[in-house]
Amino acid sequence: GKKIRLDKYLVHVGYGTRSTVQKIIRGKKVKVDGQVIIKPETAVNSLTSVVEVNGERMDYQEFYHFILNKPRGYITATEDGRDQTVLDLLEERDQNKEVFPVGRLDKDTEGLLILTNDGKMAHGLLSPKRHVDKVYYARVAGKMTEEDIKMFAEGIALTDGTKYAPGKLEIIRSDEESEIYVTIHEGKFHQVKRMVQAVGKEVVYLKRIKMGGLELPEDLSLGTYRTLTKEELDLLT
Ligand code: URA
Repeated sequence: GKKIRLDKYLVHVGYGTRSTVQKIIRGKKVKVDGQVIIKPETAVNSLTSVVEVNGERMDYQEFYHFILNKPRGYITATEDGRDQTVLDLLEERDQNKEVFPVGRLDKDTEGLLILTNDGKMAHGLLSPKRHVDKVYYARVAGKMTEEDIKMFAEGIALTDGTKYAPGKLEIIRSDEESEIYVTIHEGKFHQVKRMVQAVGKEVVYLKRIKMGGLELPEDLSLGTYRTLTKEELDLLT
């Protein structure tokens, strides 16, 4: 493990902000390898040091990965001047772990969102070269047709010059209001909404249900999140 300052270590494990943890350290509540340490700048080994706060053993991990079922009304960003962001859905101890969302869902889009502090992994997942499939469920105003399936499969070009790689359209129900699944491996701005618009219909509800081999778990209710298991992480990457 790498050497880091004790206060930084405690912020990283989610114990609190830098000033909170410094207070705790100076208040003699923190032990490293059995010894009370009162200097926040003391170097500890991130993986081998045994760090306890009020007798509770801290669990340091280099990387954290969360899966969130995003509700509408939240911006996929770490900060926004006006609106709530997906980070506001995390418990405070997890907000301090410096995780960020992998890719973007629109404010009104729901569903599967990964948050991590592992920049490399995030980059890999987003790379167009990797072709990580994303599957969306959508309700659409208007009748989706066989012709639309062909258009999606060929790759749609917008009048503004935007080109989308071929995507898969599956029609669950075709009616005044239709239900569809769309599989794409890019993640361009408003992509699903714009692809549907390009065939003359309008998305009225959008939810991401799958990324790579990882499906949004049915028991993960809207607005809640949890740590990804090792198996889920493997499915994703
Ligand atoms: N496509 C969209 O149009 N919006 C999203 O949020 C995700 C994919």
